[in-house]
Amino acid sequence: MIYADNAATTKMSKTAINAMLPYFDTIYGNPSSLHTVGQEAAEALLSSRKAIAEILGCNANEIYFTSGGSEADNQAIISAALSGERKGKKHIISTAIEHHAVLHTLNKLEKQGFEITLLDAHDDGIVRTEDLIQAIRPDTALVTVMYANNEIGTIQPIREIGAICREKGIPFHTDAVQAVGHIDIDVQRDNIDMLSLSAHKFHGPKGIGVLYAKRGTVLTNLIEGGAQERGKRAGTENIPAIVAMSAALKEAAEHIEENAAKLTAMRDRLIEGLLQIPHTILNGDHSKRLPGNVNVCFEAIEGESLLLLLSEKGICASSGSACTSGSLDPSHVLLAIGRPHEIAHGSLRLSLSEENTPEDIEYIIKTVPELVEYLRNMSPIWNDLQKGEKNYVIQ
Ligand SMILES: *Cc1c(COP(=O)(O)O)cnc(C)c1O
Repeated sequence: MIYADNAATTKMSKTAINAMLPYFDTIYGNPSSLHTVGQEAAEALLSSRKAIAEILGCNANEIYFTSGGSEADNQAIISAALSGERKGKKHIISTAIEHHAVLHTLNKLEKQGFEITLLDAHDDGIVRTEDLIQAIRPDTALVTVMYANNEIGTIQPIREIGAICREKGIPFHTDAVQAVGHIDIDVQRDNIDMLSLSAHKFHGPKGIGVLYAKRGTVLTNLIEGGAQERGKRAGTENIPAIVAMSAALKEAAEHIEENAAKLTAMRDRLIEGLLQIPHTILNGDHSKRLPGNVNVCFEAIEGESLLLLLSEKGICASSGSACTSGSLDPSHVLLAIGRPHEIAHGSLRLSLSEENTPEDIEYIIKTVPELVEYLRNMSPIWNDLQKGEKNYVIQ
């Protein structure tokens, strides 16, 4: 079996699994307890917080543990919106290609009277800083732009965006869930005020993440209760998951350059191989993309049918985001970069990890064209295209 759906989730690393095990039945205390079992857990909590902070380039007391990327996104955006509202600022800038954890939160705020401007991602999936400068208003309360896209892998000019926001005094949040552990991030260098990350996207466990919030950021609680996370996120800390997340992130950070080099080579070979298929197009900029991300559209193909056939051949892939699968709507990201509906439906995302091998890539390059040809031969649309009764959208 070849697993090429690492943007949906990753396999936990052995290091992360081993790191968490003692915290289930040996060091199982509640970090808020004053006795030794509790205090051992409290020490693990603090050292995990410090390790994560060091990798991100921030202070340990700027790290807030959450249940994952979605919660961190919600808390960052809602906090900035409410802070802005108190100063009469009700305008938020984001992009058309954000994850639904961001877009749906913005929809909710729009219903509560906020105005939302979504920046264009252009046909290469990259936001332009000129567009951001144009969009900024005196009442802009927040700019939130993802670090790297989960479907097409494009990496945004975060440092430049952050610098513009800082100059204008506007809080800047980035959903860095796809980027952390895969590309080098430093919240100070990148001028980031708030950042979301999620452990299961870098070989850690599901259901745990972080909101980094720069000192001085006013956070609003989504969950009320005890005084955990400096009173900003109630609930007994998930110590095994926090310890494992920290171990997974340390491991990823230690190998970040060698992993990126290995993945980039496999990614580029895969792109080259898939683009040999006639009437196929790459989605997103070729070089400003995550090392492991490949996303293409095939003319006259139904992405879901291709996925099922690939699965039978032992290849686990995706047509876009895990969140839209099961719905008939094409990906909002592919529509945002200008793909027409019928083309957006024929997408294939292959997201690689360090566990993949060059042999995997060759097998995918051999298998996908056979399946595309098989599906096209059954397609009435393909038949019309071939007979010249319809024009190709992808040349
Ligand atoms: C996976 C993902 C999320 C959601 O993270 P969870 O931990 O699954 O809630 C948010 N944003 C992006 C870009 C993602 O890829």
